[in-house]
Order: sequence, then structure tokens, then C-alpha cells
Amino acid sequence: MTQQTINIIGAGIFGLWQAYTLSRAGFKLRIYERSKTPFTSSASWLAGAMLAPYCETEPSQPELLPLSLEALELWRDGPLDVSFNGTLVIAPPRDKVELMGFQKRTEGHDWLKHDAVSAMEPDLEGRFEDALFYKEEAHVAPRPAMQRLLDESIAMGAELILGHEGEDYAAADHTIDTRGIGAANGLSELRPVRGEMAVIRSSEIHLSRPVRLLHPRVPCYIVPWPDQYFMVGATVVESDDEGPVLLRSGLELLGAAFSVHPAFGQAQIIELSAGLRPSLPNNIPRILLQDDRIYVNGAYRHGFLLAPLLAARVYDYINTGAIDERLLHASGD
Ligand SMILES: Cc1cc2nc3c(=O)[nH]c(=O)nc-3n(C[C@H](O)[C@H](O)[C@H](O)COP(=O)(O)OP(=O)(O)OC[C@H]3O[C@@H](n4cnc5c(N)ncnc54)[C@H](O)[C@@H]3O)c2cc1C
Repeated sequence: MTQQTINIIGAGIFGLWQAYTLSRAGFKLRIYERSKTPFTSSASWLAGAMLAPYCETEPSQPELLPLSLEALELWRDGPLDVSFNGTLVIAPPRDKVELMGFQKRTEGHDWLKHDAVSAMEPDLEGRFEDALFYKEEAHVAPRPAMQRLLDESIAMGAELILGHEGEDYAAADHTIDTRGIGAANGLSELRPVRGEMAVIRSSEIHLSRPVRLLHPRVPCYIVPWPDQYFMVGATVVESDDEGPVLLRSGLELLGAAFSVHPAFGQAQIIELSAGLRPSLPNNIPRILLQDDRIYVNGAYRHGFLLAPLLAARVYDYINTGAIDERLLHASGD
């Protein structure tokens, strides 16, 4: 059998998981990326990246949870170092009602009292009376993960074409379009949702898992990254503004970290960045067959979590024609 060729356009987390999955399956891959340096203009570079099926599922999206749990298993079986340490959700005593509300809106949690909170995250000892613990959730260091998926794909024969603008692609059996918000010209329903984040570094605090701080106005989370870096995120704003982080957002994110532990006051601010999450009307990603392309888009806040599942479903479709109707739609469906 001749080897089939696949063009992938866009090297964010969606494109990279597609490249890894399809390279492993023996396809010949070309990855076209607009930026001259990998990842620098992707939303993926700014992600936490929490793999949080329960905390990220709204009651209005019951169809998301089974997809997310399936995707989490693919992360478990994949090539990357994933920390399955769960998620801790906390609120200051005055906002306990927020914690109770979050408990009602989500599944997969245990309610912890203060000793159990301290046992789980000793550096938070005595600071929070109550917490919710989502033991099945996970997180991954996103930037090393992206590099690893790319390296593994290249090692299996994928070709990376950087700084590629325009529509001149070499002939291929299939074209997978994972341009994120860059595909808005082809996908009319796609909209940008701005996200702002900070990266800080502190040698004084150790966390083993993402910590989410509930707040009626400014909820935030802190994700431990390797080498004592922490990602603090994230705003969620319906906006196409790609400009730098606003002063108010920076204050709110950094202030939230400070309120989780005052020792964060001694942390160094390494980065303040903003990007656009590509989003569809129901905020659930989709595989769309349109204009001779396989679009994989609409990642919203779930891009890291769902990327391996979408890659598996695209592989099934290319390989056998199988259609997972929860995710894959022909144009006009
Ligand atoms: C602050 C923040 C925090 C987040 N935290 C999490 C989290 O904890 N967990 C989680 O699951 N998700 C999280 N997300 C969401 C996640 O980052 C996105 O859903 C995901 O990164 C989108 O991936 P993508 O591959 O579709 O798009 P992108 O990452 O934007 O990648 C698209 C790529 O296509 C390229 N491109 C565009 N146009 C062209 C063209 N014409 N030709 C070639 N290449 C092109 C771009 O340069 C880019 O590299 C977060 C997002 C933000 C902003």
C-alpha cells in the first residue's frame, strides 16, 4: 500500500496531537505553521494546562463530561509526563457559599476539612477551612508537552514547515486544518475568547496540583509548573483584542495568587500574556468536514484536555470512515 500523505495546518495543541497520532499510525505528515518559531503565536502556549473534566464542565453541557473523561484516559496512555494528582478547589471562609455552589454544580469531588486540606497541600496549612478535591483530575507541563509531541512526530518522519503564509500546500490525501482562531475566515461560527495569564516563580511555595480559588467576581487558578514556576490564570473575556494584559487583569490575577498565600508576594513575575481561545457557539470543540478539509477547532477552554480524543477520532475517520456523531459533523449539520 502507498503511504498516504496528510497536511496539518497549524501547530497548536490540536495540530500537534493530530501529528503525533497520525505519525504513529504510519501516515506521512507535513505540518505547516505560520509562526517562524514554533508555538509563539498559539493560544496553546498560554494554557495551564489543567486536564480537568469535572471542574470545567458546566451543568448546561452534560455531553462534555463523557468526552472529557475519555480524553483523560488517552492522556494517561500517551507519551507525556502527566501528573494525576487531582485538583484542589478552595475559597476563603467568607466565600464558603461559593464552594457549596461549586459542589452542587460539579461531580467527582470529595469535601475536605482543614486537616485534610493541610495534609494535601502542606504549604496551605491553616489557611483554608474547607476544600473540594477532584481526585481524578490531572495536569501537564504544557510547553514541554508541546515540544515533545513535535519532536516525537518529527522523529517518526513528519516534516515541519515554519513561517508558512498563504494557501500553497503540497498535494496531500487529506488536509487537517487546526489553525485555531486563524481559521475564522473559513469557519463562520468561530469566535475569539480572550484569556490573560501570568507566570510567576517562587522558591517559597510548593504545590502538587492545580489550586482553584473561588471568588464571586475574580475566580482564578494556580497551576504548578516544573522548576518552581506557577501559571496563574485566567481571564475569560468575549473579545478579539490580542493586545497586552490589562493592568486590572494583571492586578486581579496576581492579587488572587497573593491571597492564596502571602509568600507569593516574594515571587518573581516572569510573564504576563494574553491570547485568543478559538470557540464555537456551544464552547465544545468539533471536527468539521468542509471545503475538502477536516477542520478541528473550537477548543475554547478545553484544548489541552480534548486534543488526544479529537486526534483519535480524526484517525478513525481517515482510516475507516467512522463518524463519532458527538464530535464530527459534515458542513451544514
Ligand atoms: C490563558 C489560557 C489558559 C488556558 N488553560 C487551559 C487549560 O488549563 N486546559 C485546557 O485544556 N485548555 C486551556 N486553555 C485553552 C487552550 O489553550 C486552547 O483551547 C487551545 O490551546 C487551542 O488550541 P488550538 O491548537 O486549536 O489553537 P492554537 O493553540 O491557537 O494553535 C493554532 C496554530 O495555528 C497557527 N496558524 C494560524 N493561522 C495559520 C495559517 N494560516 N497557516 C499556518 N498556521 C497557522 C497559529 O500560529 C497557531 O500556532 C487555555 C487558554 C488560555 C488562553
